[in-house]
Amino acid sequence: MSTDAYTWIERSLETIHRADWYRSVQTLESLPGPIITLDGQKLINFASNDYLGLAGEQRLINAAIAATKKFGTGTTGSRLLTGHRHLHRELELAIARLKQTEDALVFSSGYLANLGTISALVGRRDLILSDRYNHSSLKNGAKVSGATILEYYHNNTEELSQILQQHRHQYRKTLIITDSVFSMDGDLCCLPELLELATEFNCMLLVDEAHATGILGKTGAGCVEYFGCTGQPLIQMGTLSKALGSLGGYVAGSATLIDFLRNRSPSWIYTTGLTPADTAAALEAVKIVQQQPQRRSQLWHNINTLKQFLQEKQGKTTTPDHFVESWSSFHSPIFCVHLPNATTALNVGQQLKAQKIFAPAIRPPTVSTSRIRITLMATHNVHHLQKLVDVLFSILTEEKVC
Ligand SMILES: *Cc1c(COP(=O)(O)O)cnc(C)c1O
Repeated sequence: MSTDAYTWIERSLETIHRADWYRSVQTLESLPGPIITLDGQKLINFASNDYLGLAGEQRLINAAIAATKKFGTGTTGSRLLTGHRHLHRELELAIARLKQTEDALVFSSGYLANLGTISALVGRRDLILSDRYNHSSLKNGAKVSGATILEYYHNNTEELSQILQQHRHQYRKTLIITDSVFSMDGDLCCLPELLELATEFNCMLLVDEAHATGILGKTGAGCVEYFGCTGQPLIQMGTLSKALGSLGGYVAGSATLIDFLRNRSPSWIYTTGLTPADTAAALEAVKIVQQQPQRRSQLWHNINTLKQFLQEKQGKTTTPDHFVESWSSFHSPIFCVHLPNATTALNVGQQLKAQKIFAPAIRPPTVSTSRIRITLMATHNVHHLQKLVDVLFSILTEEKVC
């Protein structure tokens, strides 16, 4: 057999290198937190999705250890065979209580939750409407389903309405899918408008609460709560791996929806149940979200402090307007410094790292435009935030980006 069939891989990697799109891993050697040791260097961490600082929290660690001792390391099978434990059900009921839905279902990852839910809900004769900035798991879930996919411009509900008027009648079922907090931009979807359109055109609406659960809303239930849409006919999904500091995904909604997914969602039926350790850690995290609202208020305090520092610094430099706009309007712990190209983004990322700040460049194909993505945690202190702003502005000024 000729090995020529594989030479394209090397050529493809060369192309990736030439575009400055090449990626590789970096080794984190410490507990997760605001200060991490990365490749032997101590850095202030602005790259974590552990928004509430729970991934290194002792209560989660203890819960994971206790569950492992009691139930072992693996669940040994799919949930419908030998992989189901009482812990899974406890977690599902806790999520349903947090979200104020009838029921919830826990998947082995958020990615699998999206793949399995979307492909269970719609098929070849159906239509999916998808925001252009949606997470990869929503986009791939849509592809796997075999439904017709029409993308609308980011947060453009007018265009969405036009598409619905033109195309809705040609399809049996229609599903609108969107991030609630957009993972790479940090802005929010227009949930009330989306719900109105879903009702008007008889569509299902799935919101991905990966970056909102534990963070937005009075009780930390997410964007749905923040917009006062609790109890509306919605499908909410999310992950246990961001603010909840564990691993796994979930879907929350009506009891019929959840019952249906248990019977029809291939990425739930044909995969091994979530480990006891991950399940117990996530359950402890949901409890903390409900018992310790001060963690959420500390995160919001940090978000507002950073905004204030940025605006103060802004007043003293001549930064283009689009920076001001994006910085004063962010409504989540995620914010971006948009940069002209991948090379500049990489360069700024490396300079930040040289000055002990970890906030990496995010480049195509993850996003269409290169940027530095900065995420805040409840466990950052005011000195971390001040240092970020000082270093960032000095680099941007030098790079002549400002
Ligand atoms: C991270 C993420 C997911 C996937 O969650 P995992 O549990 O990490 O697989 C899904 N949607 C969005 C918007 C995300 O940011």
